[in-house]
Amino acid sequence: MVLAELGGSISRALQQMSNATIIDEKVLNECLNEITRALLQSDVQFKLVREMQTNIKKIVNLDDLAAGHNKRKIIQQAIFNELCKMLDPGKPSFTPKKSKPSVVMFVGLQGSGKTTTCTKYAYYHQKKGWKPALVCADTFRAGAFDQLKQNATKAKIPFYGSYMESDPVKIAVEGVERFKKENCDLIIVDTSGRHKQEVALFEEMRQVSEATKPDLVIFVMDSSIGQAAFDQAQAFKQSVAVGAVIVTKMDGHAKGGGALSAVAATKSPVIFIGTGEHMDEFEVFDVKPFVSRLLG
Ligand code: GDP
Repeated sequence: MVLAELGGSISRALQQMSNATIIDEKVLNECLNEITRALLQSDVQFKLVREMQTNIKKIVNLDDLAAGHNKRKIIQQAIFNELCKMLDPGKPSFTPKKSKPSVVMFVGLQGSGKTTTCTKYAYYHQKKGWKPALVCADTFRAGAFDQLKQNATKAKIPFYGSYMESDPVKIAVEGVERFKKENCDLIIVDTSGRHKQEVALFEEMRQVSEATKPDLVIFVMDSSIGQAAFDQAQAFKQSVAVGAVIVTKMDGHAKGGGALSAVAATKSPVIFIGTGEHMDEFEVFDVKPFVSRLLG
């Protein structure tokens, strides 16, 4: 179920509930079941949905609600708060400061949109007066360096990589050192993303992370990954200190549920979303407006 449909289903469920003359336990359960179904179809993990349902039932104690209170409003507010809570890990991610050079490392599976997102992230900051730089430490995928180079050139962002060197750790370290010397304040390291969660990928990621000591590790996730989101995000979190998530491909047929799972699995916030292939199709992620949109 795509995002717009999810919003529609949830508001329909709430509407149906408010049409009922008396909102009792049965009506509330029907409404919650409807919402549960919609969330599951949008790829929100089953465990999260169940937790949400239990929490809402705890908050909305129908017997305690004094007559005259707008029960529908109270339930709607409880659903809104729960969805916000699911997207808020409780602590903000590291935010780079212009006064000190920051190293930001990108991780994710091949095809997740990692390389594209590195440039989008650099471009976003460049427009705000930063001096970003891109390092291609992806020596696994043929063409990765060319892709980064092409994107970086288009956006006039300095880049570093090698056609000859096969050791990603060496490239990452050299790139970071060079750009620190050149007074770049945001050094972005793109790492290899293989087609599945291979042991070698995680080992390589760990080594690049140990050598470059990033201030922030961003996990890039394709929103169309579905129910696999939780396990994938957790696998990355277990290997490197993921501190933030960027969800890509939220345009088109994106399902929103993966974002909730990624937050739960990494205990890190979603900071941006990718909404297209172009450099500027990139938005700051804000929990409340996102949930408002979701609820229609
Ligand atoms: P990587 O293997 O993870 O580095 O992935 P790439 O950056 O090469 O991206 C894979 C494909 O996804 C490319 O065709 C990108 O243009 C596309 N892509 C990346 N981000 C987005 C997005 O937000 N929306 C859409 N529609 N496509 C995207």
